[in-house]
Amino acid sequence: MANNLPTSGGRASNGKDYTVECTISDVAPFTVHFRQPKDMAGRYGFDYPRDADRYPIEEVTKKLSKKMVYTREKLYKDSIAKFNNIYLQSAKLSKQLKSKDYLPAWLVIFPDTTTAKYKGGSDMHSHGIQLDLELQQLIGNTSSLSASKFKTLRFESSAPEKLTISPKTIPIAKILAKGRTVTTVNDTKGKTRNDYISKRAVLIRGVKNELLKEHVSIAVYAVSNSCEALVGELMVHKNNITYKADLVFVDVTSSSGQNIKKSNDFQNYLKLKSFNQALIRAEPVAETKLDLNKLSKNKNNKRVLKFLLNIKAGVPKVPNASKLTSEQREKAESAARSKFMNMIKEELSAIFINHGDQAPIGLTGRKIKLNDPYNLRTFIFYLDFNISRINGFAPGDKLSSGKFRWGNIVIIFAQAATNNDTLVHEIGHSLTLRHVFDSKAPYTFHQGFSDKVMDYTWQAISKRANSNKRMSFTRYQWYKMQKDTSIYRI
Ligand SMILES: [Zn+2]
Repeated sequence: MANNLPTSGGRASNGKDYTVECTISDVAPFTVHFRQPKDMAGRYGFDYPRDADRYPIEEVTKKLSKKMVYTREKLYKDSIAKFNNIYLQSAKLSKQLKSKDYLPAWLVIFPDTTTAKYKGGSDMHSHGIQLDLELQQLIGNTSSLSASKFKTLRFESSAPEKLTISPKTIPIAKILAKGRTVTTVNDTKGKTRNDYISKRAVLIRGVKNELLKEHVSIAVYAVSNSCEALVGELMVHKNNITYKADLVFVDVTSSSGQNIKKSNDFQNYLKLKSFNQALIRAEPVAETKLDLNKLSKNKNNKRVLKFLLNIKAGVPKVPNASKLTSEQREKAESAARSKFMNMIKEELSAIFINHGDQAPIGLTGRKIKLNDPYNLRTFIFYLDFNISRINGFAPGDKLSSGKFRWGNIVIIFAQAATNNDTLVHEIGHSLTLRHVFDSKAPYTFHQGFSDKVMDYTWQAISKRANSNKRMSFTRYQWYKMQKDTSIYRI
């Protein structure tokens, strides 16, 4: 166990080192949290309870009898117990810190294995993951921490032969020396919290050729002269099962001489900053072209010609729009747009199955629909035209039962061809994820405040810009994506 045991620690009768647990569980006036350096977002799975999700920090806009009202609210809209469970489920020690409202962060890294050991490994995290440490005083506690009886933080991996943390100890004074930032967790009640942040303070590293068959817990203890107290935990997700997403990219050109200009790093972005967070390796398995303009020159391809004419005509105008209220008009326009987008999806998939060189084949050897559950590939169509100001969409299917099912189709319009975040967002939909603000999602948040991939770049009602880059998936989303019909185990 600890190398620098407190004086009361020593040799137990069985010859093993032991430490004395502090008797009162809430004796330490602070907790310790692991956080991701901002510039590392997306490079590995990392999910943690954002302060703004739990406390009324952000200003959200509401419409009350047609007036805009601004109020501070927590971003998570449902019961906080349900939210807490995202992080507490399968955590090892955090429940012991319940009186301090402690929730652990979760980290996901690929195992660094040779193919002989396990072919689903990757060297993308072989150098380890540097994380920030946040020492947070309990809310409302403004006492001086320098006078605390705890002098050292000690870290302990529950499986040190598979996953290490270094250093093993950090003097608390070193963290306090970084200075204090004050987080206002509740403006109206004047509640604040003192935080001491130490950037890239620890390195978490998987041992070469070791798979994590179970979640590993990294405990943080505050050590005093007489005892030690649990003050935090990082959960590192098991990684003995990893997944694959096969992506087919199709450049669709509707007029001659058009070329699709995609982002020049989209392959690397997909591989290293997107679904790897959920242990899914998303890889382009084919890139192909669908030249509608050329196909339309053949008189037998009447469907292609009709499709091109429809695209050129654009979304049909709402009839008698001037006689409608602005609300009615907005609704009618949105319905017309949806119908038009559905037409694009239907025609594009039918034409691709007829003429594309990567149409999916079913078990019987015949071509199958792109949204067929037996199709294990996701098809990403880049179009050379726009409709309205839409970046892209991921159409599903309405089953004969009336139930909605996500599909395997992603459509990206010309205006968003270089947006990596749009690409990942739309693929996320095709892997069954809803928007984080969707009331039908398992957890619902206010729109436009987070760094989550499935959020929007603007807020509802006020249309204020989201100040975050959309980079992260939430823990529950990792599992949802892994279960999509197009995802398979490596
Ligand atoms: Zn969306």
